[in-house]
Amino acid sequence: AQHFLNRARAQTELGAYVALDEEATLAQARAADAQLAAGHAGTLTGVPIAHKDLFVTRDFPTTAGSKMLAGYRSPFDATVVTRLAEAGAVTLGKLNCDEFGMGSANENSAVAPIGFDAPAPVRNPWDLSRVPGGSSGGSAVAVAARLAPAVTGTDTGGSIRQPASFCGITGIKPTYGRASRYGMIVYASSLDQAGPMARSAEDCALLLSAMCGPDLDRDSTSLDRPVENFGAALNNDIAGLRIGVPEEFFGAGLSSDVSAAIDAALQEYVKLGATLVPIHLPRTELSIPVYYILAPAEASSNLSRFDGVKFGHRAKDYADLVDMYKKTRAEGFGDEVKRRIMMGAYVLSEGYYDAFYLQAQKIRRMIADDFQAAFQQCDVIAGPVAPTVAWALGAKHDPLTDYLADIYTLPASLAGLPGMSLPVGFGEGGMPVGLQLIGNYFREGQLLGAAHRFQ
Ligand code: GLN
Repeated sequence: AQHFLNRARAQTELGAYVALDEEATLAQARAADAQLAAGHAGTLTGVPIAHKDLFVTRDFPTTAGSKMLAGYRSPFDATVVTRLAEAGAVTLGKLNCDEFGMGSANENSAVAPIGFDAPAPVRNPWDLSRVPGGSSGGSAVAVAARLAPAVTGTDTGGSIRQPASFCGITGIKPTYGRASRYGMIVYASSLDQAGPMARSAEDCALLLSAMCGPDLDRDSTSLDRPVENFGAALNNDIAGLRIGVPEEFFGAGLSSDVSAAIDAALQEYVKLGATLVPIHLPRTELSIPVYYILAPAEASSNLSRFDGVKFGHRAKDYADLVDMYKKTRAEGFGDEVKRRIMMGAYVLSEGYYDAFYLQAQKIRRMIADDFQAAFQQCDVIAGPVAPTVAWALGAKHDPLTDYLADIYTLPASLAGLPGMSLPVGFGEGGMPVGLQLIGNYFREGQLLGAAHRFQ
């Protein structure tokens, strides 16, 4: 723990950490030492990990990357945090992220990282002038720069897979409902999932096994399925594995460097005995409008809790209650969050609900059905995570450009399927490229096994 704390303190220019508390971490580490001495080792006893700042923690402040929660301290730990602690993990600190998980470059954080007085970008350790991806940008950077051996992330529409790809590490989003959402600050309830990010599939399997499991009293969407040892299939042979390659993931928007790295990775799998099966996911493009209707709709409702009354920021001067709400929310939320609240309120409003929200729900079901049809022909699906490698910090994107870049991660999110990213090569500027593997429901073990064979 001390080693990683030292590294985190020495490399503040990366902007990865937003909270460190050496005393709290070392107290946990000493408790782990005592456990080991007493012969009570859990699967992760003494392993230092850091959490995305979207998980509430008692020992560290929690901001969700927002001014709205500046100075907020949760009275309880998120279930994922509790489960990892029960397995013996030691918390190193909290990691930067896009505000409420909304973004793809970690440029939407309103929080000053450790070592800064004002918000500063999180930098990709492979090239400091580039973004780390998002929204779990701090998480990906912490692993890539060895500021933590493993971390937690959250993925609503790609936020574990895309930064993992941009930073050359491994990350997995399990089947929706596998990991409890209790204490994970909500963005879009029907999509949000927690997952691990680490150096290898093997490490991800260790963390995932500790994080998952039913939490029915606290999260009604938590699945009532026993915890699995996701590492059990790590060494399974993949000879005969049928890898579905969706034509729609290799269309015009995919840059040639990423495409070449993905093709080479697929050929490696063929050498290992897998077969490639051309498949179709015909509604891939529709996943963008569907997601950017449903996720903001849910966000506009979920974020209504930040009203200045119960917790977090409250405006100083106001005339009455409504004025207090307005000023608090105007001051507390960043531009992207406001944009999504407005989009969400719009698509849910009378007259537009049927035209947008309901249609999107129907297409979401069709996207899930398309995957089931595809899984009749293959065991796992493989393709790129993102159309390009990590782009330059501060590149003037309109929001729509960023939304379009989510095209390959959104389908699995909408279907609730497990998906992961593993580093397989390099593209433009020597930047890492991740391969996305998507499995059928509850097949996390199979995905991790396929990734492990490659690694
Ligand atoms: N980039 C997507 C968004 O901004 C996904 C984010 C996420 O998975 N939290 O919504």
